[in-house]
Amino acid sequence: MTLGHPALQNLALSRATVDRVTKRRTDQDWIDAAWKDPRTRVLVVHDGQALVRDEGLVFVAPEEAPAGTRFLLGEDADGTVYFGVSAPLGPAGPAGPVGAGPASTAGTGVRAASLREVGTLLSDRDAGLLTHAVALANWHDTHVRCPLDGTPTVPDAAGHSAVCPKDGSEHFPRTDPAVIMLVTDPEDRCLLARNTAWPPRRVSILAGFVEPGESAEQAVIREVAEETGITVTNVRYVGSQPWPMPRSLMLGFRADAPAGQSIAVDQEELTEARWWSRAGLLAAIGAGELALPPSVSIARHIIEDWYGGPLPSAWTTGGRS
Ligand SMILES: [Zn+2]
Repeated sequence: MTLGHPALQNLALSRATVDRVTKRRTDQDWIDAAWKDPRTRVLVVHDGQALVRDEGLVFVAPEEAPAGTRFLLGEDADGTVYFGVSAPLGPAGPAGPVGAGPASTAGTGVRAASLREVGTLLSDRDAGLLTHAVALANWHDTHVRCPLDGTPTVPDAAGHSAVCPKDGSEHFPRTDPAVIMLVTDPEDRCLLARNTAWPPRRVSILAGFVEPGESAEQAVIREVAEETGITVTNVRYVGSQPWPMPRSLMLGFRADAPAGQSIAVDQEELTEARWWSRAGLLAAIGAGELALPPSVSIARHIIEDWYGGPLPSAWTTGGRS
């Protein structure tokens, strides 16, 4: 199931098939029964990684799951319940992965991988489970105390919130909204920029975090102006993708730059920014002068949506979006 704007299909991390069964999170009897059911599958995640084999996640049975913060991920249409546990992955050894096949007894072919590495390779079910699990684990791992009085909090609602045992305050997982936008000029050329932190040939569209008390559209206008000196109009939403590295939600937009403006790059954030025609962009990628963000990123999809089809990947692995 892929939800979103028709222009942006198949966003790797926006896929999911498992029902989050939010009403079950406070049904402790149901939770306990599910955890005792040997058909239940547990995904262990640590530092944004999980064990994978070939192009699928490696699950363990509840009785084989390591100790760690536990959270309910959901229930599949076939009745299988999925939990996540935030704990060191450990070896994919003899006692290890359920359903990974005979070869897994020696750990063969089982490796730790991140969403960046396998986000586009996983099935819809597994992509959704890993994205959900990594996002929750990242929150639990970094929000361990009550922000009001520093008391260690206790997970609640099947791991989807945390409660302070001292003052009873309730705390929920954080998601940081970020805008990412493709700006075009009157000739329908797109604005691509290179961040100072990126490798030399890498370019992408502009992005930035939404500030407190700001709408996403306002953030688009502000960020484009701050980074390039360009004023944009006609800001429109095109789709979103969770990006839990560690906790972003990328909100995709298109915007227009009226004629008669010149680019003034903010040198602290960007090393360069310029307009690219479709032909110019394709030629530069082909010549090895430019490299686009990887297919797992929403940036790549927004650029290809503007371009009108897939673009070659001169730069595909190991990068950051
Ligand atoms: Zn407290």
